[in-house]
Amino acid sequence: MSISIKCIGVLTSGGDAPGMNAAVRAVVRTSSFYNIKCVAIYKGYQGLIDNNTKVMNPRSVNNIINKGGTILKSARCLEFRTPEGRKKAFETIEKQNIDALVVIGGDGSFTGAMIFQSEFKIPVIGIPGTIDNDIYGTSHTLGYDTALNTVIDAIDKIRDTAISHNRLFFVEVMGRDAGHIALNTGIGAGAEEILIPEENMGLERLLDSLSRSEKSGKSSSIVVVAEGDKTGKNVFEIAEYVEKNLPHYEVRVSVLGHMQRGGSPSCFDRVLASRMGVQAVESLLNGDSNVMVGLKEDKMILTPLDKAIKGKSKINKNLIRVSDILSI
Ligand code: ADP
Repeated sequence: MSISIKCIGVLTSGGDAPGMNAAVRAVVRTSSFYNIKCVAIYKGYQGLIDNNTKVMNPRSVNNIINKGGTILKSARCLEFRTPEGRKKAFETIEKQNIDALVVIGGDGSFTGAMIFQSEFKIPVIGIPGTIDNDIYGTSHTLGYDTALNTVIDAIDKIRDTAISHNRLFFVEVMGRDAGHIALNTGIGAGAEEILIPEENMGLERLLDSLSRSEKSGKSSSIVVVAEGDKTGKNVFEIAEYVEKNLPHYEVRVSVLGHMQRGGSPSCFDRVLASRMGVQAVESLLNGDSNVMVGLKEDKMILTPLDKAIKGKSKINKNLIRVSDILSI
């Protein structure tokens, strides 16, 4: 291993996700394991601009592996999008003697990291933290598994009330560009239909499917709708359309919203975050830079940041077939 890196900076940026704390803990402790100083940067790139930092040690990250959100805080920082802002950020890097950066965030944060790296030649490694699972180069992003479990739990509760009142519920889940959450929770919660950004199933098919469900004896139904569903209508418009065409249904809408981002990370996310944190530090020490740590077939892999940003994380289309078969 190279010994040129003596201090690693770590920050969380963009949308928060469960598992970010576990990743911070792993980066801090792995740095210490290799006798490297670790500096935490607060509020994402804003903290880098403001020199809002703290030297960490293994005890600074006690009892955070189970906590949702991020103890380092996150921020959307407009100033970092400007050359002047990034120059100020680099002054902090110099002041703190930071030799390399670990950026935990989504594709926006990785874009910022790439630009920063190219301007100031500081090695950077990304750890994908976003509940949407919409990043190329990893089968799972941090927080995705926890979000699935949170959504399943919420839909199970909605189903209890749907059954009691013979209601049709439209449940909107997160996923503006990717239907991973909708597709998987839809199957996991036994939804009658699932609307996602990747496939336009059409509203007529939805009406047919709901009519069929009713004829086959179902008295209540759940339809899971991703935020960015491809019908081009939002969940309220879809619900209104169905209510107009199937007036005997008592229709309700539930938008799960930000609760999907919170909560204690699942065991899967804690283990993933721990592995990614260890891998990120070891990769920096091996001389890697401008790459993202990811999971593929239970192994840690590295993907160039530009590929991770530009590539598409594809849904498993076989799941659509599974849902169609099982929702008869
Ligand atoms: P996420 O990382 O979850 O996708 P954002 O898209 O909000 O979240 O990005 C997080 C931060 O990354 C932004 O607030 C900004 O500071 C930085 N960033 C995003 N895009 C760029 C860019 N093109 N140039 C410089 N910094 C950027």
